[in-house]
Amino acid sequence: MGDIIAMTATRVRADDKRIINNKAVDVNQLIPIKYAWAWQYYLDACANHWMPQEISMQRDIEQWRNPKAFTDDERLAVKRALGFFSTAETIVANNVIMAIYKFITAPECRMYILRQAFEEAIHTHAYGQYMPESLGMDTGELMNMYREVPAIHDKEEFGARLTVDILQPDFETESFSGRSRLLRNLIGYYVVTEGIFFYTTFVMLLSFGRQNRLPGVCEQVQYILRDESMHLNFGLELIHAFIRENQDVWTEEAKAWALEAVKEGVRLEYRHAEDSLPNGLLGLTHQMMKQYVEYIADRRLERLGLPKPYGTSNPFPWMSEVIDLRKEKNFFETRVTEYQTGGTLSWE
Ligand code: FE
Ligand code: MN
Repeated sequence: MGDIIAMTATRVRADDKRIINNKAVDVNQLIPIKYAWAWQYYLDACANHWMPQEISMQRDIEQWRNPKAFTDDERLAVKRALGFFSTAETIVANNVIMAIYKFITAPECRMYILRQAFEEAIHTHAYGQYMPESLGMDTGELMNMYREVPAIHDKEEFGARLTVDILQPDFETESFSGRSRLLRNLIGYYVVTEGIFFYTTFVMLLSFGRQNRLPGVCEQVQYILRDESMHLNFGLELIHAFIRENQDVWTEEAKAWALEAVKEGVRLEYRHAEDSLPNGLLGLTHQMMKQYVEYIADRRLERLGLPKPYGTSNPFPWMSEVIDLRKEKNFFETRVTEYQTGGTLSWE
């Protein structure tokens, strides 16, 4: 008898929706929309759809097979990059679906989170299967780096640890401590893991592209960077909406925790960059990488309304251009158009 879905005479009002603990209304009614920004993220993300196998790896394969085309350091750096990402993308997919989706109860936010989770699957597909198998790499070596290479292990451990409490069967978001823990998970996940941990590796891979090397890898990395900057921006909006509705958890202690988490993220990210580029590479020095991590950490903290401890300038202004590309002309226009047409069903 209708016990699981209760019968009711009252309809959902947008104003009654909540980011968490959506008890006043049920979680299954997308419309009426309250969080219009979340719905817009969902639409924009779908318009950016892409798949790895659409991008040719032919020139990459020719280059990678040429024994003179890469130094040993360059080969190590590329393998470390794919090895890090191949499992990191799976860990972030697990975190977003198993911990965040479950407790974020606004249906319009869940729509974007579902889309994000699929994008993480596409990223795992690209880094873990399509790129390395095309290049003839040892995928077992890549998939196990997070258990065998300390600098990679420590970053992925940081990401995985965020979920541990939340996956406990008795975790709840009613109490002050449950809500505080969920906020920490959101900050650690969206700001540190998604906002800091991918970025020196993006710089390194895209630097090959700037020399017309590994063009297929770099095209995929540009799409992934575009997806990831949306994940970060959605995450920051979500955190702000969460805090607006749960102001009691945004304490001085929580702010201090967030600042420390970002600083720890900067240390881990910088150490990973140093470890992957032992002698510097393609004109990228350790000092520049450190400066870049500090620069983006300041940007993230600023978005959280927290003080910026580093005050470093951007050593790679071209990265901002790559990230901003999507806002300008038609870098992705062909692909987007194809999908939008391909997705329209005709009933005639
Ligand atoms: Fe991703
Ligand atoms: Mn992501």
